[in-house]
Parts: sequence; structure tokens; C-alpha cells
Amino acid sequence: MPPAMRFLVSNDDGFEAPGIAALARALGPLGEVWIVAPEQEQSAKSHAFTMWEPLRVRQRGARQWSVAGTPADCVYLGIHHFLDEPPDLVISGINRGSNLGQDVHYSGTVAAALEGCMQGYSGLAFSLHRSSEDPVDHWETAEEVVQRVVNAVMYDSPVPKGAMLNVNIPNVPPENLKGLHATRLGRRFYDPGVHMRVDPRGGDYYWIGGPHAGFEATEGTDGPSIDGGFATVTPLHPDLTWHEHLDAVRSWTDG
Ligand code: MN
Repeated sequence: MPPAMRFLVSNDDGFEAPGIAALARALGPLGEVWIVAPEQEQSAKSHAFTMWEPLRVRQRGARQWSVAGTPADCVYLGIHHFLDEPPDLVISGINRGSNLGQDVHYSGTVAAALEGCMQGYSGLAFSLHRSSEDPVDHWETAEEVVQRVVNAVMYDSPVPKGAMLNVNIPNVPPENLKGLHATRLGRRFYDPGVHMRVDPRGGDYYWIGGPHAGFEATEGTDGPSIDGGFATVTPLHPDLTWHEHLDAVRSWTDG
């Protein structure tokens, strides 16, 4: 029998979020689960890394810790301190809310998997595409997708070290999931939102960010696929280089 797979699990919704429990449930039968997750909500904190403050840590159980820091802090500490041996996969989620198109730049869920890539491992990020009006979160559908993706990556098509898959799951019962699509990042629109309020002592404060307003209808991208009832699987890597524009830059630089 091959040695058990070792999964380093994190998220950005926090250690006590329902999605990380769903992820651990899905991964339990497939290997050894090590959880290092933020003590508090860290959604939209992107890839922030704590360098100027101490990081307090609490052990929450066997192979489980919470960190008063960011998702990237958690993955870094997991790899370089808490795990006794390197992980086979760094897995993030399951986020309560999707990470599609440009969301990946804000997402702490995606950043946790990307931090795994940047430390030399393979990453997976899972997010549930729910709306604030949805009465139920279908974690059971997401758990089935997690198992299908992890089995594929373990036995059929490994993700190279330094790369990751960004997986989004529609919030539908398992029988209504139409399948999985390989996609690229598309464009997601949000209505602009800036709300000014006044605090009890008379000071202004702001609350920013508006509601989801749809996806650009471009074939092969993640948004239209998930609107069509499919889970989306988008390969990502940390290199943001815009290759198509390199020649244009060479035309006026010195080499
Ligand atoms: Mn989140």
C-alpha cells in the first residue's frame, strides 16, 4: 500500500467556519489531514503576510492549530513548522462564496493555495458559489467535488509543484450538479458600492463593495460555466507575467 497522502488544509473564513469542516470530512478518507487556519475571518485579505507583529497560535486538537494571522501565514507556518514532513497537497477552503475571475486577486482562499505553490508544493482551492439569498449551503455537493478533484490529482493528473487548481462549485444539491468544466479565469462584475455612515461619536466611516452583477459571457471562462450548473476547475500559477505584451515592451527597452 502506498504511504498515506498528507494534506495541509487552510482557509480564509477562519478555523471554525463550516467550510473547513466540510473539507476535512471530504479529505479524511483520502489521507492525513493537518489543519492550520486563521483564528478569525480573513476573507479578501489576499496574500497578506504578517511581518511586523507576533503570530499567536492555539493548538485545537491533534494536527490542528489556529493562528491569529492570515491564510498565507498559516500555510507558511504549517509547511515550515507544524507538519513533521512535507505535505503532498496544500488545500484551501471550502470558501463560503465563490472565487471566480478577478476575485482570485482578492481571495485569501486562493492565496493560501498559492502560498503552498510559492513554497514549492501543489495547491488546490475550493469555493462554494452561493448567493446571500440562498437558504441552504450545499456542502455535500462541494465535498463530492473535492473527492473527485483530489482523486484525479492523486492518481491521474498530478498538479505540478508550484501550480494549483482553483475549483468553484455551484450551490445545488448533488443530483443537480451537471459536471466539472476545465475553464480559464473570466471577468466578473460587481456593482460599485460606497456606503457612508456615522459612528456613535460623530465620525464618518465607510463600507465598500457592491453586489455581484454577473459575468462576461466569454466561452471557456469560469463564470458562464458555473451559471450553467457546472463546477469549474481553473489551473493557476503565481507568475502574473503578461507574455503577449513582452515584445511590445522589448520594442522600447534595451533588451
Ligand atoms: Mn472567505
